[in-house]
Amino acid sequence: MRYSGFRVLAEGLRGNRGWTRAWRDPAPKDRYDTIIIGGGGHGLSTAYYLARNHGITDVAVLEKGYLGGGNVGRNTTIVRANYFLPGNSEFYSHSLKLWEGLEAELNYNVMHSQRGLINLFHSDSQRDAFVRRGNAMAAQGDDAILLDREGVRQLLPYLDFDNARFPIHGGLFHPRGGTARHDAVAWGYARAADRRGVDLIQNCEVTGIDIEGGRVVGVQTTRGAIRARRVGIVVAGRSSQVAAMAGLRLPIESHVLQAFVTEGLKPVIHHVISFGMGHFYISQSDKGGLVFGGDLDFYASYAARGNLPMVEHVMEAGMTLMPMIGRARVLRSWGGIMDMSPDGSPIIDRTPIEGLYLNCGWNYGGFKAVPASGWCMAHLMATGQPHEVAARYRLDRFATGRGLMDEEGTGAQHSLH
Ligand SMILES: Cc1cc2nc3c(=O)[nH]c(=O)nc-3n(C[C@H](O)[C@H](O)[C@H](O)COP(=O)(O)OP(=O)(O)OC[C@H]3O[C@@H](n4cnc5c(N)ncnc54)[C@H](O)[C@@H]3O)c2cc1C
Repeated sequence: MRYSGFRVLAEGLRGNRGWTRAWRDPAPKDRYDTIIIGGGGHGLSTAYYLARNHGITDVAVLEKGYLGGGNVGRNTTIVRANYFLPGNSEFYSHSLKLWEGLEAELNYNVMHSQRGLINLFHSDSQRDAFVRRGNAMAAQGDDAILLDREGVRQLLPYLDFDNARFPIHGGLFHPRGGTARHDAVAWGYARAADRRGVDLIQNCEVTGIDIEGGRVVGVQTTRGAIRARRVGIVVAGRSSQVAAMAGLRLPIESHVLQAFVTEGLKPVIHHVISFGMGHFYISQSDKGGLVFGGDLDFYASYAARGNLPMVEHVMEAGMTLMPMIGRARVLRSWGGIMDMSPDGSPIIDRTPIEGLYLNCGWNYGGFKAVPASGWCMAHLMATGQPHEVAARYRLDRFATGRGLMDEEGTGAQHSLH
């Protein structure tokens, strides 16, 4: 069924009796050409682009819970292309272009809103760093505008500009940055992949990876063994555990990242604001809730829930930046499991096991990467070659020392949290 405004109108007049399921609920077959482990944003987009770009439709996505129940439905929904280093900037630039056509591509309203993102700076040296970043973004073909203090004040008059510790000197404005509704992205890719013949198997946990003579031949699951020629591990915070099933030890640590939402308020914050010095960022959802977050919980964990010290830290940072936020009541907080890599950049690569591929290391920033990650992972699995915009995301860079330290690489402090 194709979604459209006309369909909504017609169904409204007919009592909404004509809607069909968004995707099928098939039983797993005992053999597929390709298996994707993990039904998060990256797993679903990989399956979609395998079918769409490469005509590979004998594909199953195996998800241990329900589709979109992981980080793809737990993040703070920020989408941007403001990375600095070659290797990252072209990848995120490609991703943002895919976002800009995503709703038409998937025939699904993912509520992509390019409301603009502002990264604040508080010192001359930080301004210099943002000037360099802005120039790199412009050189990549993306948009960046340097704002002085008055420029920021015009857009964000409610901030505390004269905070003694972090007075606001200006900001780097990225107008094409913004937000998208996170779970709609999972649902949109799921529906589009299903329509191209991909089997989406929920409540199906992978418990083992079968390897014969150095090549992958299938997986063991809670719903039986399934044979496959190619297997992609796309499980974000569980990457180390699933890779260990194939005898691989990854340079990934799993950490909790929390987020918060307030009661619904009238529109007050019209952009995404990032206050890096205080570890705080915020936007306002279409329902009116202020959605915000901060830094990691600072110790490795597989618990998808957070702890009070970071709650206090985030609230303090919010009050420092915008004292008016103290009037809003927090409704909920939650946590997700982040796959932190040593240099803060991801991995999309083959493994030493023939036919077994890896997609992980998304740190705090994997939501915005969902379209390009799936595009590049599908390219790698279909052709055996890395896609040109993901060519630097190799697993061996942690052995060769050719890291991609761009944004904060908290995972670099392995075992020190
Ligand atoms: C609080 C928070 C805020 C964030 N904010 C942003 C943001 O603003 N912008 C941004 O770009 N990124 C953000 N992120 C990061 C982003 O959400 C993640 O990097 C990204 O969603 C991870 O990829 P994914 O969607 O595929 O992960 P997931 O949705 O976690 O998918 C992995 C799936 O694998 C499944 N799985 C695991 N083990 C198995 C198994 N053995 N068998 C079968 N299935 C298995 C899991 O159940 C899960 O559904 C944030 C994350 C959090 C937690």
